[in-house]
Amino acid sequence: MSADNLIFEKSSLGARAATIRNPDVPVYAPSCALRENFDFPELTEVALVRHYTALSRMAFGVDNGFYPLGSCTMKYNPKLNEEIASFEGFTDIHPLAPEGSVQGALEVMYGLSEALKEITGMDAVTLQPAAGAHGEYTGLSIIAAYHKGRGDLARKKIIVPDSAHGTNPASAAMAGFEVINIPSDEGKGVDLDALRAAAGADTAALMLTNPTTLGLFEKNIEAIAEIVHSAGGLLYYDGANLNAVMGIVRPGDMGFDVVHLNLHKTFSTPHGGGGPGSGPVGCKRALEKYLPDPHVIKNADGTYSFAYSGDSIGKVSSFYGNFLVYLKAYAYILTLGAEGIRRSAEGAVLNANYLKAGISDLYPVEGGARHCMHEFVASCERLKEECGVSAMDVAKALIDRGMHPPTMYFPTIVHEALMFEPTETEDKATLDAAIEALRAVYDEAHADPEKLVSAPHNAVISRPDEVLAAKRQILRWKG
Ligand SMILES: *Cc1c(COP(=O)(O)O)cnc(C)c1O
Repeated sequence: MSADNLIFEKSSLGARAATIRNPDVPVYAPSCALRENFDFPELTEVALVRHYTALSRMAFGVDNGFYPLGSCTMKYNPKLNEEIASFEGFTDIHPLAPEGSVQGALEVMYGLSEALKEITGMDAVTLQPAAGAHGEYTGLSIIAAYHKGRGDLARKKIIVPDSAHGTNPASAAMAGFEVINIPSDEGKGVDLDALRAAAGADTAALMLTNPTTLGLFEKNIEAIAEIVHSAGGLLYYDGANLNAVMGIVRPGDMGFDVVHLNLHKTFSTPHGGGGPGSGPVGCKRALEKYLPDPHVIKNADGTYSFAYSGDSIGKVSSFYGNFLVYLKAYAYILTLGAEGIRRSAEGAVLNANYLKAGISDLYPVEGGARHCMHEFVASCERLKEECGVSAMDVAKALIDRGMHPPTMYFPTIVHEALMFEPTETEDKATLDAAIEALRAVYDEAHADPEKLVSAPHNAVISRPDEVLAAKRQILRWKG
């Protein structure tokens, strides 16, 4: 049965999914209905179940198959954590409930903050920001407050390497800073000479994405920290991709002053799933008093309460942020433990290097001589020159082979980029199948390029007009 028809078109007058026979209580018949002529679709139970099951099959998710969407981390998140986040004791509490009645919720927030401090090597954490980019904005606002608090008013510039995530310069501009871009060196790390030239009395901070958007670890981190700190600037760590390093190295130990994490990438909430996210920000002691209000403290008698700081930048979320995401992250961290957190990162890196080794002779990998971290960027530039097949065509062809495409055309510093992030939960058989699929697509590109240019051939929708799909959405059934 297909889902091509809308449920309204499948409606058959008088069909019922469930009925109550001869009720022994009075039938409730409201005197005035809220609306007349509801026009609900009428279907039998089995027709209804088939309709939604068919619809669910039209979408591809990590529960259907391999989903190596680089930089977005569409990793499998244990169902247990979803279950815990649905406990009524948590979902039914009111955000204005008295502290004494929600001690368990406060304990979760406190415990998670403590765990994230340990994982990042920071002295204090706020859980409030609702996304990674929101965390960046929050962290930069804290940095601005710090310089202002010291009367250092000339620091208006944020240095951003070209291998940074695109949200970094955007957040810096949003927070009122001027963005100074610096190039990468031969080894695809920060160009230290360019950094020395850029850092000065007007530097507020350097924002570093590590691993970089090329999936490479920034090796010169100590030299970078030294240059920026001796110029009086601070160091901001974009830790959205902590997947690769958690439990192994800590931003705090590398010399960073502020860091944000993406709980909805690394700590058991899906990214890009359309649901809420969470981008906690950690900082060193000197910046702590500027963190958003309120935060949770543990009192001497073992109880928890909210605390406020007179110097806070204020609130950045309604109430306390996305609490149920904290719950999933906390459950994830507690189930894995310190050892499991580290093994998760090691698995992510191992899987990415395995996939990379299996395809890089056909799809050259940027910085490919080095080991990658949890992801890598392959290029289809050569393929395009040879047979006119682009990164987009390869991505579409993978759909026919049961695989979700990798991230395309990002980062922009690589031509015809395909960015792969297999994640730690995939087994060797899945990775081998992906390697086989990518190699088969490469052969097909040479043998029958026409076929690839019109792929996918087995998907419900082949090549939508992406501009129209975004700009003129048809979301209503009629008119
Ligand atoms: C995903 C990502 C972000 C942005 O996070 P959002 O939650 O999507 O706003 C920032 N930096 C890096 C490196 C990322 O991968």
